[in-house]
Amino acid sequence: MLTTLLEGLDADGRVLAVVMRPVVESEEVIDFELLMVSGAAAGVDLGITAAPPTDGLEPQVGETTAIEQRERWLALRREAFAAGHPVRGDEDHVDVHGQRRVLEVTRTRVGDLLVAIWQDVTDVRAAEAARVASEQRFRALVEHSSDITVVVDRDRMITYASPSTQHFTPDGDTLAGAPYGLHLHPEDWGSAQDLLERAYAATPGEVLHDRARVITGEGQTRWIEAQATNHLHTPGVDGVVINCRDITEEQHARERLAQEAMRDPLTGLPNRRYFAEVVQHALARSARSRQPLALLLLDVDHFKYVNDIHGHPAGDQLLIELAARLRSALRPGDTVCRLGGDEFVVLAEDLHHLDEALLVAQRVNAAAAGTYLLGPGGVQQEVPDEVPGEVQLEIQVGVSVGVSTTIGPGNSDALLSTADHALYEAKRRGRGRVEVFQPQLRERLLHRLGLQRDLRRATSGEELELYWQPIVRTSDGAVTGAEALLRWHHPQLGLLAPAAFIPAAEDAGLMPAICEWVLHHATRQSARWTRELADPLQVFINLDRHQLHNPSLLGEVAAIAAAHHVELSHLTLEISERILTEDLPRIRPLLLQLREGGLRLALDDFGAGNTALTWLQEMPMDILKLDRSFTATLGERAGAAIVGAVLRLAPELGIATLAEGVETAQQLSTLLDLGCDYTQGFHHARPQPAQQLTATLLSL
Ligand code: C2E
Ligand code: CA
Ligand code: CA
Repeated sequence: MLTTLLEGLDADGRVLAVVMRPVVESEEVIDFELLMVSGAAAGVDLGITAAPPTDGLEPQVGETTAIEQRERWLALRREAFAAGHPVRGDEDHVDVHGQRRVLEVTRTRVGDLLVAIWQDVTDVRAAEAARVASEQRFRALVEHSSDITVVVDRDRMITYASPSTQHFTPDGDTLAGAPYGLHLHPEDWGSAQDLLERAYAATPGEVLHDRARVITGEGQTRWIEAQATNHLHTPGVDGVVINCRDITEEQHARERLAQEAMRDPLTGLPNRRYFAEVVQHALARSARSRQPLALLLLDVDHFKYVNDIHGHPAGDQLLIELAARLRSALRPGDTVCRLGGDEFVVLAEDLHHLDEALLVAQRVNAAAAGTYLLGPGGVQQEVPDEVPGEVQLEIQVGVSVGVSTTIGPGNSDALLSTADHALYEAKRRGRGRVEVFQPQLRERLLHRLGLQRDLRRATSGEELELYWQPIVRTSDGAVTGAEALLRWHHPQLGLLAPAAFIPAAEDAGLMPAICEWVLHHATRQSARWTRELADPLQVFINLDRHQLHNPSLLGEVAAIAAAHHVELSHLTLEISERILTEDLPRIRPLLLQLREGGLRLALDDFGAGNTALTWLQEMPMDILKLDRSFTATLGERAGAAIVGAVLRLAPELGIATLAEGVETAQQLSTLLDLGCDYTQGFHHARPQPAQQLTATLLSL
C-alpha cells in the first residue's frame, strides 16, 4: 500500500514523498527515522539527503539542516502522527538554483508509519496571491469612487455592485445579486442588453461605451454613461465590468445646447444645422413620393446698410419682423430657417408641380418685402400714435429670392448652392425679385467666381481704366465736364463695362478698393486737365452705395484732392437716385457736409426710381441728371411734357439740369427748347480714354 501511494505521487518530478517511522522512547515519540524517499528531490533542501537512501533503511538526515528547523519539523511530524488525519502546511524552500519555492507538505499517519508528501505549489500560490491582490485592488478602486460599478457574470447576474448602487434600490441594498438590466429605463433596455452582448464577445482591454437612462430607488430618471470591459477571464472578477458615470446634468445641458444649437437665438427660427438635417430627410421623402421640393433662398437687399445706418438693434428688429412675415406666408409643412445674417431659406415640400415653387417664392417675396416700421418700441405693425421722444423709423425693404427645385434623392448642399446661384441672378437682375435656378446659371456662377478672383488682381494692377464721357453745355455746345466711367481691361474677356463686374465686385466686398481707385484716378485726371486745358473741366465721379455711409467721406476726398492739388469745386459727385431714396434722411447730413466742404453734387438717374418731384427740394443738389429712360421718351408728347415739367421745376429749386443718353440731334434740340442746361450721350461722344478726349478738346 505504501508503495502504491508513493508511486502514484512519484509521477511528477516535483513531488517528493518520504516514509518515516517514529522512534519511541518511554512511550514518547522522540524522533522519526527515514525509511524511504521517493521521487526526485530536485535539490530541494528538505533537511534530508537529496539522494534516495542507498540501503533503503538508513536514510541520512541532512546535516546542514538548522537545529530550529529540525525541531519544528519534529513538532509537526508528531502532531500529524497523533492527529489521525492529514495535516497540511506550506513551507518555503530554496532550491539548488537559489529560487524560492513554496512546497505544500501533507503529513499523514499510515498505520505505524508517517508519510510526508511535498508538492511544489510555487506557481499555484503565486497565481492565488495575484488573484487576491487584483481583487483587493479592484475593490479598492471601485468602492471608493462615487461611480457605479457592477460586474455581470455569464448568466447576466450582477455578482458585484459598488456601494453607490444603493441609490438604485429602494431598501438601500446594492445591486449585487440582482439580474442585469433591472433598473434600466424601459426604452434603453434593448441597447443595454446589446452592450452586454458585445462585451461578452469583446477582446480583453476593449472598452465599449453606451448611454442609458436608469431609474433610481426614488423613481427618478438619471442618465448614465457606461463603459463595459470583458473580464470574464480575469481571476477575481469573472465577469463583464461595467463602470457607469452619472451624466444627468451633462446630458440635460447637452440637450439644451442641442436645442439652442438648432435654433437661431434672434429670430427663434431653426438654424443652418437644423436645416441641413431637415433637407436631407425631405430629399429622402421626395425620392420615395416623387413629389418635387423647392428651396427658396432669401436675402434682404442692402441689409448691410440698414445695420450701418440705423444701427444693429434696428437691423435685428428688421430680421425678427421678417422672420414673422415669412412664417405667416408659408403653407403648413413648409420650413423656414435663418441661415445667418440676412439669409433665410424656406423648404417647400410636396409640390404638385415644379412651377408651384415659383408661386410660393412670389408669395414669400411679397410678404417679406415692403415697409417696416422700426423704432425704440420695437417692430410696429401700424403707424403708432405720436409717442413723444420715440423715433419711429420707416424703411423700405426689398427681398431677393433664389429658387431651386428638385425631386429626391439629392444632396442638400448642392440644392442650396443652386438656390444661391439663382439668388445671385435675382440680385444681378436688379434685386427685389424672384429667380428660379436654371442650369445655365451654373455657368454664370463659375464666371462670377473667376471674375472675383481676377478682380482682386485688377484692383492692384493696371487693368482698370477710367473712360470719360463729355458733358456738353446745351446753350453753346461747349464741353464743360466729363463723367468718369469705369472700365476693366480683362486679360481674356477684353474690355468690360461696370455692369459686367460691379455685381461680382460687390459680392466679393471689393467695391471699397475699386471706388478708392476711382477717386484717385479721377482726381489725378482732373489735375492733368487743369494743367492741359485752357478752361477747367468739371469732373463727375460716380459714388457707390457704401461711400454714402462713410462719415469720413469728405475728409478722404479732400485728402486725395489736396494730394493732387485739385480744388474740390472741380469735382462733382454723382449719387444715384436709387441709392438716395433708400435712406434720404440718413444720407442728407452727409450730402450737406460734402457740399459745405466745397464739392458739387449731382443726382444721377433721376426718374429711374420712383422719386416724387417734391423730394427734389429736400435734396442738397447742384445738378439733376435725368435718366436716359426719360430722354428716350422725348419723342412722345407725354414724355416731353414730363421732362419739361422737371426741367422747369429744377431751376426754381436752384438745381441745374442734365439729360443723359442723348443719342439723336432731335433729342438734343428738344432738350434745348425745353431749357435743359447740359446734355450727355452717344450723340456727343461715347465714353473714351482720357487722352482721346483731351486730344479732341485740344483740337477744338
Ligand atoms: P451711369 O452713371 O448712369 O452712367 C451712364 C451710363 O450710360 C454709362 O454706362 C454710359 O456708357 C452709358 N451711356 C452714356 N451715354 C449713353 C447713350 O447715349 N445711350 C446709352 N444707351 N447709354 C449711354 P457704363 O459706363 O456702362 O456705366 C454703367 C453704370 O456703372 C453707370 O451708370 C454707373 O452707375 C456705374 N459706374 C460706372 N463707372 C463707375 C464708377 O467709377 N464708380 C461707380 N461707383 N459706378 C460706376
Ligand atoms: Ca453717372
Ligand atoms: Ca446715370
